[in-house]
Formats: sequence, structure tokens, C-alpha cells
Amino acid sequence: MEVWDDHEAVVGALRVRRALPRRERRTVGAWCFADHMGPADISATTGVDIAPHPHTGLQTVTWLLDGELLHRDSLGSEQVIRPGQLNLMTAGHGVAHSEENTGAFRGSLHGVQLWIAQPESTRHGPAEFAHIAAPPEAELDGVGGRGDGHATVLVGTWGGLTSPARHDSELAGVELSVLGSAEVPLRADFEWALLVLTGAVEIGKQPLVPGRFGYLGLRREVLPLRARERSRVLLIGGRPFAERISMWWNFVGRSHEELSDARAAWQNGEGERFGRVASPLPALEAPPTPWAPGR
Ligand code: MN
Repeated sequence: MEVWDDHEAVVGALRVRRALPRRERRTVGAWCFADHMGPADISATTGVDIAPHPHTGLQTVTWLLDGELLHRDSLGSEQVIRPGQLNLMTAGHGVAHSEENTGAFRGSLHGVQLWIAQPESTRHGPAEFAHIAAPPEAELDGVGGRGDGHATVLVGTWGGLTSPARHDSELAGVELSVLGSAEVPLRADFEWALLVLTGAVEIGKQPLVPGRFGYLGLRREVLPLRARERSRVLLIGGRPFAERISMWWNFVGRSHEELSDARAAWQNGEGERFGRVASPLPALEAPPTPWAPGR
């Protein structure tokens, strides 16, 4: 397992630990972005409030361990998400959304947001939003009766279970809750990576803690996981993504030109490509592109 430190980033008023993308590794399967948010205290004056912004060519996957968030999007969706539930938004050609405090909630916010790059076959298609109230769950096999584990399949297929969340390529996103030793079956034709959400685990003799990202690669059939305290881990994997993606700001495309076009459509604010979000927050402005126009 290769282990990297996440890098710190700020989203809205929230400090996050970004595991993906990184220079050494742009994607794991079609997974192209992973932010670990919090735990952070949400009070009357400090919260999340990520103002309306656009996306293209990707799916956003939101999963909370603590707290709550209000999702609004330009399809007219308005959905509160709580721990144990999944929000999945498919951007296709274009969508806009906001992530806001629910107003009533005070306390700890802790969760992840991941992006999945859409393949050529669906990335120009319509946007879609889904809320999965209860993703499928399974018990994990302990080793020699010494383990106790539980898995929740957020996206894709794992261990014979398939999440009802839409997936456009072969992949899996699974949350594991483990105490003691557990053996986690893996598909050998997927590449896999791990992010520790709470606690600490060992993979063989290698420790992994929150703030670090473990890349397991291909050709593994089982992941031996050990946790001395109850730990929650996010396991992501997929068939290596064959398409070369360009990512900038909130857009996934295939070229600078496509990304510049998406930026222009958002900045022109005509609302045709991305629609409008019924949010009290003023929409975010796109930053300037780091490449020269016409490149
Ligand atoms: Mn977003």
C-alpha cells in the first residue's frame, strides 16, 4: 500500500482534507475527487453554506457520519441529508447546487464528499439527483471469531450487494465499520484505495489514520484489516478509468476548451446550461482559468 498525506483545502467556511486528486494519482477507478470534511463544530454563526456552483461530467457523492446538510439543486431538488443516507447528484452536461446549513442543526459535522468522473457515454447527458435513505448493508467476516465488522455499499457493487445509486462505470464505494480483524473481499480487476474516517486501522503491518490516503492498486482479492478500536473506513475502487480527464474548479471534461466553455456558460449566468438554484446564498463566481484563453 502506498500512503500519502491528504492536503488541506477550504470549501465554503469549512477546512477539509483532500485525498484526491493528487499529482501522483488523479483517479482510482472513476473516483476523481475525495474530501474528508470535519469533524467541525456547526454553530449559529459558523456553518457550511457552500453557495450555488456548477458541475459538469461528474457525480457528487455525499455521505455523513455526523450532522446534517441541506442540498438544493437546479433540478428543483431540496433534500436534507443525515448520517446513514446518501446523496448522489449526476451532473452530465451541467447542473448547479448548493450545500447549506439546515438552520436548526448545531453540533458536529463530519463526512465525505467524493466525485466520480462520468464516462463519455453519459457525460453529455441530463442531470439527475437521488437520495438513498438506506443503502444496502452486510456483515463482514471476522477472522477466527476475533473480528466484528459491518459494511455499507454506497455506490456500485461489492460483496454481492449493489447500491440503488446510479453508477455509470464499474466501481464500488463502501463504508466499513471494523473492530478487531476482518477480511474484506476485493475484486482483483479493480484498483482500490482507503480513507480512514474515524479510529485507526492496520493493513498487514501498515498503519492508516485519518488524514492519510492508502492506495492499494490492482490484483488483490482480500484486504486484511485490523482495528484496535472501532474504526470507520471508506473503501473506494473501480476498473481503472480508461479516459483521460481534465479537471478544473467544479468541472470534469476532456480539454481546456471544454472547461473554458463551461466556465463561460456559468459566468454568463443565462441559466440555460446549469439552471438556477433556489438558494438564499449568492451564486459563486468562477475563478479565472490558469491557462490562457484559446489554449
Ligand atoms: Mn458541489
